[in-house]
Amino acid sequence: MKNRSVELVANAGAIHSVGDGFRVHTFFPSSYRLDMYRMSPFILLDYNPKIHFAPSQTPRGVGVHPHRGFETVTIAYKGKVQHHDSSGGGGVIEEGDVQWMTAASGVLHKEYHEEEWSKKGGDFQMVQLWVNLPAKDKMSAPKYQALKSAEINKYKIDDAGSEIGVIAGDFNGVKGSAVTFSPVNLLNIKLKSGTELPLSFPEKFNTALLVIEGEVLVNGTEKVLADSLALMANDGEGFKIKAVNDSVVLVLSGEPINEPLVAHGPFVMNTKQEIIQAFQDFENGKFGYLED
Ligand code: MN
Repeated sequence: MKNRSVELVANAGAIHSVGDGFRVHTFFPSSYRLDMYRMSPFILLDYNPKIHFAPSQTPRGVGVHPHRGFETVTIAYKGKVQHHDSSGGGGVIEEGDVQWMTAASGVLHKEYHEEEWSKKGGDFQMVQLWVNLPAKDKMSAPKYQALKSAEINKYKIDDAGSEIGVIAGDFNGVKGSAVTFSPVNLLNIKLKSGTELPLSFPEKFNTALLVIEGEVLVNGTEKVLADSLALMANDGEGFKIKAVNDSVVLVLSGEPINEPLVAHGPFVMNTKQEIIQAFQDFENGKFGYLED
């Protein structure tokens, strides 16, 4: 098996606000080598590194907005996010939980710090990933998969506490908890200090790892610190990660969807005409109604 090498390591440098509740670094799409296609089927990765929010009686967050043409995957590492959508759904994403929202033909939603959490304040750390949908599924019905921490299928590495939460795809026979539209692996890996883990994905699968906590060595040589993303090259299958200290690493790997993309704000479609249609449908209330 040919080894997969590290193509680049990027850290969460520039932070911007999404609404007033999310302070994120957009690892991709970005200005350098990570455009909208490079990590397909993953089209956006926003990372809120651990940031302390002071108590607030009014929950911070982002108001009503639409999405169409893809899925949003929200992973809470610290803090709690409350969400509501135009289909009447809603819920709280707590620490360790994953919300896999298929926006597909369209939803309106809002995302805020959970009310009680907001009153106390605290450390907040979050990932939001956008997963593209194949053209044939972009206008399918919206749905949610609310994956509670305890329900996410686990692969146990050892008795010391190293384990893999298989959010999507599979790992050594453990199936992912989320249903996906195209081949996607999303692994939340907890590694105790000194533990080494071999990983392997088909060469053409676009693959990256985001270090949430700790520090890892990739292939024994490339040091990747917390709040950094390592993009793996498509030059092999297998690679190894070793925890330098107790670490949490999010690994994403998926088969690219080789279709043209036209993106405008919260809409990601295949043609300009479909984007114009999305705006028209939004203006005409076809995404439903949700109070701010
Ligand atoms: Mn959203």
